[in-house]
Amino acid sequence: MIGVTVLGSTGSIGVSTLDVVARHPQRFKVVALTANTQVDRMVEQCQQFEPQFAVMVDESAADTLQQQLRQIGLQTEVLSGVEGLVHVADMPAADYVMAAIVGAAGLQPNLAAARAGKRVLLANKESLVMSGGLFMQEVQNSGAELLPIDSEHNAIFQSMPRDFRAGLSQAGVNKILLTASGGPFRSTPLEQLKSVTPEQAVAHPNWSMGKKISVDSASMMNKGLEVIEACWLFNTSADTIQVVVHPQSVIHSMVQYTDGSVLAQLGNPDMRTPIAHALAWPERIESGVANLDMFDIARLDFEEPDFSRFPCLRLSYEAINQGGTAPAILNAANEVAVDAFLNEKLSFLGIADVIETTLSRVTSHAANNLEIIYQDDQLARETAQKLIIERAA
Ligand code: NAD
Ligand code: MG
Repeated sequence: MIGVTVLGSTGSIGVSTLDVVARHPQRFKVVALTANTQVDRMVEQCQQFEPQFAVMVDESAADTLQQQLRQIGLQTEVLSGVEGLVHVADMPAADYVMAAIVGAAGLQPNLAAARAGKRVLLANKESLVMSGGLFMQEVQNSGAELLPIDSEHNAIFQSMPRDFRAGLSQAGVNKILLTASGGPFRSTPLEQLKSVTPEQAVAHPNWSMGKKISVDSASMMNKGLEVIEACWLFNTSADTIQVVVHPQSVIHSMVQYTDGSVLAQLGNPDMRTPIAHALAWPERIESGVANLDMFDIARLDFEEPDFSRFPCLRLSYEAINQGGTAPAILNAANEVAVDAFLNEKLSFLGIADVIETTLSRVTSHAANNLEIIYQDDQLARETAQKLIIERAA
């Protein structure tokens, strides 16, 4: 039996992970579940999976969960705080760790899982964006197995030769073609982007996801973060990564080889496919996703990305090329700006403005240790917050 810890089990990826795990009770046993504040959903998940541990980051949510679990007679041990997350990420009973917390909050438990040599199923792209160098170092030192869950990176992984880590050019790869749906505003004119609402931004045409990543998809910051994520995962520089807008989201990404071949992974847009792939790799297991119907799809379209309507994409390339803590600063400013946008304190186009100004005001440093990364992350958050307040005044 493989013990699985699901970090962020109440979220969109967490729920899809449990859906796949539940289809294979002979293969997987859930050993720990974690969430921030959502007690009700956590109670249901504990009833269904009876994990050894349940972690609520929020203290009072942990107390409430504890009471409710006792009332229904469950023995699951309740932990709280970041210490709780780290405990269930590196405990011996966890063979695999699904890293599906949203945002910078995932970094510490993800690093703990990598350090402990787990199979890490990485959905939380923010931890590679913030600290890709340190993260990959931990993976290498411990011999952890890092498997990408982000659908594009999972597709790239599936299309890569086995020995890609030695270097892409040696492996005969000359380009990564990172596909993007273009989000809900793919063809919206700049003038109209000024007044789009959070409701419009979170209504993704193909994927159902958490709010933060949905806004990131609308601004194409998600693709920018994915360019950075791909640089770390595939040990390459941003100039080998070409973003290809592909509105149908059927091709999840491609790898172009020196002999002219292009390998792609296709499938219905459902995260259970990359989740099942990473859970079973190198085997294949059933995921619950319907087969792709080629006649139903009928056509596949491709477009070049528009860097002028989607400045977050340009800012991401600039940040990874600058290196050091610049991607962490970009990520932190984005988290603050997206939160303000969702709370109607910032316009949609204001998101990119706030990030760009934050990047120009906060000096980046070599990302040698977590302290410096958290310091610049914090400074970027404060700077972005101030800019948002100034703009509203
Ligand atoms: P979500 O908002 O649906 O769920 C987030 C989870 O994280 C929840 O369980 C929540 O309780 C937990 N959480 C939130 N704040 C926390 C905190 N401060 N401390 C600890 N836990 C906290 O998000 P999601 O859409 O499932 O995305 C999760 C991650 O996966 C993100 O990094 C996202 O970029 C990535 N991802 C998601 C998708 C998708 O289809 N949803 C696709 C690719 C990558
Ligand atoms: Mg993705």
